[in-house]
Amino acid sequence: MYYPEPISKLIDSFTKLPGIGPKTAVRLAFFVLNMNDDDVMDFANALVHAKRELSHCSVCGHITDQDPCVICSDTSRDNSVICVVQDPKDVIAMEKMKDYHGKYHVLHGVISPMDGIGPEDIKVPELLNRLKDEEVKEIILATNPNIEGEATAMYISRLVKPSGIKTTRIAHGLPVGGDLEYADEVTLSKALEGRREI
Ligand SMILES: [Zn+2]
Repeated sequence: MYYPEPISKLIDSFTKLPGIGPKTAVRLAFFVLNMNDDDVMDFANALVHAKRELSHCSVCGHITDQDPCVICSDTSRDNSVICVVQDPKDVIAMEKMKDYHGKYHVLHGVISPMDGIGPEDIKVPELLNRLKDEEVKEIILATNPNIEGEATAMYISRLVKPSGIKTTRIAHGLPVGGDLEYADEVTLSKALEGRREI
């Protein structure tokens, strides 16, 4: 089908988003054309602003507009516990729950030999570096409950154990294969509460 170039460009951009198929992309593009000018400008600015202003915290790897992030700079939080997650979205899920007051470490992925992703490709070395400087007593491994998530948790646990730091794994209240970010607050809270030493 033929579209004037500006529209086909917009459609292409929407197609690059996750979960957006060609039909939805067309629908969204035409929706944007019907929006009023101010709303379109706000939308465009929000995209650019988010991309420009946000970076990763140099301590924990969470997305932030200040470095260190608000969580790392919060002196009221418990420095002796680090919760290790795969993705910044998991930090947000944990924070929504409001039951956790320790720190975080975002791995930005999991170890996956099938995809050629080793410990050095995710933020494992950064985690080990933190353990040298910070007074950590417990590492909570909150990677997703699937094969890669479990393997990553086991790998980190083995690395950390000799240092005498306790490593725990969140409980399997989480549905197997279910991502942390989609767990509701009660499930997540129970998973955290029921964590076991590994
Ligand atoms: Zn941080």
